[in-house]
Amino acid sequence: MCGIVGYIGTREAYPIIIEGLKRLEYRGYDSAGIAIFDGTDLKVSKTKGKVSDLEERAEKEITKHGNIGIGHTRWATHGVPNDVNSHPHLSNSGDLVIIHNGIIENYESLKQELISRGYTFKSDTDTEVLINLIEDVKIQENVKLGQAVQIALNQVIGAYAIAVFDKTKPEEIVIARLGSPLAVGVGENEFFIASDASPFLEYTKNAIYLEDEEMAIIRFHKGIKVRKIKDDSIVPAYVQELQMNLEQIEKGGYDHFMLKEIHEQPKAITDTYRGRLLRNEAIIKMAGVEDNMKKFLNANRIIIVACGTSWHAGLVAEYIFEELARIPVEVEYASEFRYRNPIIGENDVVIAISQSGETADTLAAIKLAKSKGAFVFGVCNVVGSSIARETHAGAYTHAGPEIGVASTKAFTTQITVLTLIALRLARAKGTISSSGFRQHLLELELIPKKVEEALESDAHIKMIADVYKNSRNCLYLGRGFNFPVALEGALKLKEISYIHAEGYPAAEMKHGPIALIDENMPIIVIATKKGHYEKVVSNIQEIKSRKGKIIGIVTKGDTQVRELADHIIEVPDTLESLSPLLTTIPLQLLSYHIAVLLDKNVDQPRNLAKSVTVE
Ligand code: GLU
Repeated sequence: MCGIVGYIGTREAYPIIIEGLKRLEYRGYDSAGIAIFDGTDLKVSKTKGKVSDLEERAEKEITKHGNIGIGHTRWATHGVPNDVNSHPHLSNSGDLVIIHNGIIENYESLKQELISRGYTFKSDTDTEVLINLIEDVKIQENVKLGQAVQIALNQVIGAYAIAVFDKTKPEEIVIARLGSPLAVGVGENEFFIASDASPFLEYTKNAIYLEDEEMAIIRFHKGIKVRKIKDDSIVPAYVQELQMNLEQIEKGGYDHFMLKEIHEQPKAITDTYRGRLLRNEAIIKMAGVEDNMKKFLNANRIIIVACGTSWHAGLVAEYIFEELARIPVEVEYASEFRYRNPIIGENDVVIAISQSGETADTLAAIKLAKSKGAFVFGVCNVVGSSIARETHAGAYTHAGPEIGVASTKAFTTQITVLTLIALRLARAKGTISSSGFRQHLLELELIPKKVEEALESDAHIKMIADVYKNSRNCLYLGRGFNFPVALEGALKLKEISYIHAEGYPAAEMKHGPIALIDENMPIIVIATKKGHYEKVVSNIQEIKSRKGKIIGIVTKGDTQVRELADHIIEVPDTLESLSPLLTTIPLQLLSYHIAVLLDKNVDQPRNLAKSVTVE
């Protein structure tokens, strides 16, 4: 996830690109860079930090004149955010320049191949491999840039939106897309390239949206040609007139970042397992786990430390690790762990989870665990964050920037990463059969589609939200793998609607919360078919006898809970261990709609901050 901007035409490219990058900064903001052809040479300026840092640097470093250029705000996936890893990247000859959004999964093997042919690399990025691959093809096959890009992309596995140009032919830009967005603004004798239309809306409302597996060659004066990457066939360029304003575009047409991020989950989960879950080969590949396999296999236990939503993901992971890999797991609030002189030693593995990778209490817990000799593994979203640096090894979630304060896609992608780790360890330990393993891989791969299906209940959930929006209290119940989902559902509601909510293991209800139930109390019960379904149905009966209002989260086609509940929300069937990835979706939407109906500030709820960097 990052922001891409490019320009070719008669205006000065620099201000268009810089202003465009500022509008795209929400997509990624750990580094920024720009390349402009000034009429005689290519000028490149790039830096770790924000677009404002880039402006300061470019001021001193480059002349800012020129009518063709590309710029990038990075959200690092390969290589820490630093000046060298920032985009644009140059090919070895210095002629070709690229910006890239996405991940080249097979970059390592391509890199080795290029190294053996004499190529050298300055950065740790997958992107620099791609630009040198394009250069290599261009030289070896003696073809034009457009063709070289096409041949190179056919060797690439992964996701990308790219813009490339050649300083020796500064009258064309080649772009391509697979899995990452790319739009072209069409003006009079000028073209704008961007991840979304916000950078060019003030210049033109005419846009071409590239589809996946399409590329385009954009030539000054000569126009744009769109082609299929695979077979070179020409695609008619469909120019549409945009009817939107800037604000809408940054939120991708959604009213709030939270809603956008809820809907991004199918893609975020796919990005998280991309390149790690190799179903055809029936393996899971995670370098951080592979390199430290002994530590994991010899561990007496795993201790998970985290805060807030990440702590809930940790609780889900406890069920998953114990079920699949048969390793004892404890889950701790980082803030408690750090102050209670915990008993840990060299044979313990600590997994620290944090979206931002900057959570102060989690960082302190990591330092404490390290000082006691434990092996510490990080799971975070932000590449190069403090937790990523402070841990011995780790795995990123690749969810893309999360802006809404109430965490949504961070939660599901954390569960995805932790599931992959548990499955990998289960395979290594032999605690899962080979058919069970394959079945998990298959089901995990189906989850994004099923999340999409779960999202289709949006309108129905909004209607339920309207019925219960004025409730003072709310109870969330679940068992087994879905008990932590109940906690997370209650947290979401509290965070953004300020309605008091509690999550409980369904059976625990009898030990206290049942006293709260009356005809005004909505109780959300996760009652999916697998697991302890019959037991949960009994709990629902108990609620019904006390006249509580029941909202059942059920497996598609359920009839038993439908009979008892006031409302039901269906989710697709899956393995019990993967069900939290689906049952959490309606709970996110329910809290979102209640908060919107109550006119609360969904993306910036009172008193909360996105990343808690103080203890
Ligand atoms: N994989 C590339 C990198 O790490 C691009 C990341 C992005 O989309 O910003 O530099």
